[in-house]
Amino acid sequence: MFDKPAFAGHESVHHFFDAKTGLRAIIAVHSTARGPAAGGCRMWNYATADDALVDALRLSEGMSYKNAMADLPLGGGKAVIWGNSKTDKTPELFRALGRAIEMLNGKYWSAEDVGVSVRDMAFAAEETKYVAGLPSGKAASGDPSPVTAKGVFLGIKATALRAFGTDDLNGKHIAVQGVGHVGAYLCGRLAEAGAKLTITDVNPDALATISQATGAKVVAPDDIYDVAADIFSPNALGAIINPNTLPRIKTKMIAGGANNQLATPDMGEKVLERGILYAPDYVINGGGIINVAAEISGTYDPAWVEVKVQRLVQTLGEVLDQAKAENRASNRVADEIARRRILSA
Ligand code: NAD
Repeated sequence: MFDKPAFAGHESVHHFFDAKTGLRAIIAVHSTARGPAAGGCRMWNYATADDALVDALRLSEGMSYKNAMADLPLGGGKAVIWGNSKTDKTPELFRALGRAIEMLNGKYWSAEDVGVSVRDMAFAAEETKYVAGLPSGKAASGDPSPVTAKGVFLGIKATALRAFGTDDLNGKHIAVQGVGHVGAYLCGRLAEAGAKLTITDVNPDALATISQATGAKVVAPDDIYDVAADIFSPNALGAIINPNTLPRIKTKMIAGGANNQLATPDMGEKVLERGILYAPDYVINGGGIINVAAEISGTYDPAWVEVKVQRLVQTLGEVLDQAKAENRASNRVADEIARRRILSA
């Protein structure tokens, strides 16, 4: 672990195996400087155990940054289950995960991530109290996606103010990649604000629903990069801003909810060179973790969530302003602020 480039001073990494259920899980705790490490649990069919470890290291570091930028009293952690989320899931597997989380005694709080549903987490919660994003119970916060989408919508407006001189989205053409949980809520808000939408997804049913509800034009997944829009909003996959796609993107700004949008950090400079304003992903998409944090605090207070989301949008604006003043890539500025916040804690 210490030799891996993804190792970033992680406090601890825990491996769990449960013979009865076949659970193979890794929980990486990057930092508890600001509070207990928090971050979702991902279930993925990794090619090798090494890939699972690298993903856990990378994602848990990302959570430290996201939680710091949302100014939450939380550190960064992540759990990964090595398995196929379509074929390997059982209630017992998630109960075993719950027992693993419980062994860490509150050093790590879990929630849903790719391949893991609210229902799965409810099974884990039978064995541990350190799980959030639950459908019911004391302080339950449920699905974080609507709050993520609200933060992304407000973040798009804050970015538009800096890219176009106005945050009015009326008449702005927005190309949206992915209309899943976050993308669907986001499209609703954008359409309400008068934006003209072009959308894509690999799920035809989701596309039909959103296109019908918002009047959005539909394009094939790979064509979204060529849409002559004002704004590109990625809300599906990671690494979609890369040397192959960037030359095709002609929008003035990129702002969306997807995690890890830049294939590599130096894509931030390439985006800047093209005169595109980029809203750093882990800043603009922090609404969901704010919602989860409210549950972790023990009392779900919607007013607290609202204040935190508004403050996050301000932080995004500050990052973009500093990046402009210093003519630097916005992701570098965000990384620097996040690291400083963690270090000072
Ligand atoms: P989701 O699985 O509900 O939605 C993702 C959508 O992307 C799906 O509709 C899927 O069909 C589509 N998709 C997959 N491959 C695609 C492709 N090649 N081209 C176009 N569309 C494709 O997930 P979600 O919860 O909406 O999350 C979306 C993104 O936002 C992810 O990157 C996630 O990590 C990030 N995120 C989500 C939250 C949250 O609260 N849900 C919070 C922070 C970040």
